[in-house]
Amino acid sequence: METKFKKIGILTSGGDAPGMNSVIKSVTCAAINQGVEVVGILGGYSGLINDRIKPLTKNDVAGIVSLGGTFLYSDRCDEFKTEEGMQKAIATCKKHNIDGIIAIGGDGTFRGATDLSIRGIPCIGVSGTIDNDITASDITVGYDTAMNTVMKLGDALRDTCESHARCNVIEVMGRNAGYIAIETGLALNAIGVAVQEIPFDKEALFEKMNEARKNGKRSFIVVVAEGLGAEFSEGLVTEIEEKTGIETRFVRPAHIVRGGIPTLADRNFAAKCGYKAVELLLNGVSDVVVVSRHDQIVSMEIKFALILDRMYKNKLKDDDLEGFTVEQIKQMKEICKERHDYFVNMYEVVNAIGY
Ligand code: ADP
Repeated sequence: METKFKKIGILTSGGDAPGMNSVIKSVTCAAINQGVEVVGILGGYSGLINDRIKPLTKNDVAGIVSLGGTFLYSDRCDEFKTEEGMQKAIATCKKHNIDGIIAIGGDGTFRGATDLSIRGIPCIGVSGTIDNDITASDITVGYDTAMNTVMKLGDALRDTCESHARCNVIEVMGRNAGYIAIETGLALNAIGVAVQEIPFDKEALFEKMNEARKNGKRSFIVVVAEGLGAEFSEGLVTEIEEKTGIETRFVRPAHIVRGGIPTLADRNFAAKCGYKAVELLLNGVSDVVVVSRHDQIVSMEIKFALILDRMYKNKLKDDDLEGFTVEQIKQMKEICKERHDYFVNMYEVVNAIGY
């Protein structure tokens, strides 16, 4: 491949996710094998502002794919959102002759990547978030591992609930997205799953539990998405006890779900995304994010992805759709509908087979 790029940088930013290391490994090896040097930027955008740059060799990244967390560390950096911070970051790129950057993270990270791209530093985004809350991508790096971690914890809770004839309410991470909750709810055969996306019928849950207990069912798992808030999830414990008489315990695995050994699915998805990101960057593409759409790894303009996200979350501002073609707006609406339909369908399945 002919490319004008001599050196690229890679960083991980925002919330960490298992599989980020696999992106780092894939980007590093793919670029070096094309004759392009790679540097790691430590601690996300703050590393760019504070000149924390580390050259990476293929040996440096050997063996990191089986590690959770991020080998390049992550941080949240408000200074980067200011023009002054942005200029410091650009100065660091100039100082080290960094021709382009691959930024792994969530929507905040992609916003930063756009800001750099429009100021002349080409950037490509790759997802790295357990929440699966990037509307543009069917899945995100870290999501599969997080779901598997919750499933294992839920299985362990099921054992003890069965012994003691108890219920366990598990509150799982996901920020404002209920993906982890709904998928693990199905995998754990939860009797109820509460997510922000769909109104939750508490009375129906209590009724179902009462009937099941009458039938001799001993253990119950209820999964709640963190987006509903601590008051909701902790309150549900008391309500279940009051309405059913079933002894109920509460578990919040919190950040445990963010760590751990990445699954095969995450490692390989991450590796493919990293490879694609290098291919795009070295071919002169910029200001796009690598996403998964219907099992294909493709790219999408960051601007499109961010507005799509707002559309899905019903947070569109008046002029957000200005500059997009009718065809693009139609595509956004289709993606939103696809995601919403998926939720409705999953919800039906969970409720239909939960006990
Ligand atoms: P995530 O990438 O997981 O969504 P954050 O929202 O915390 O996590 O964003 C990560 C980092 O990206 C921020 O700390 C900041 O440095 C940068 N960032 C976020 N929003 C913007 C923005 N609007 N402009 C420039 N940089 C941003």
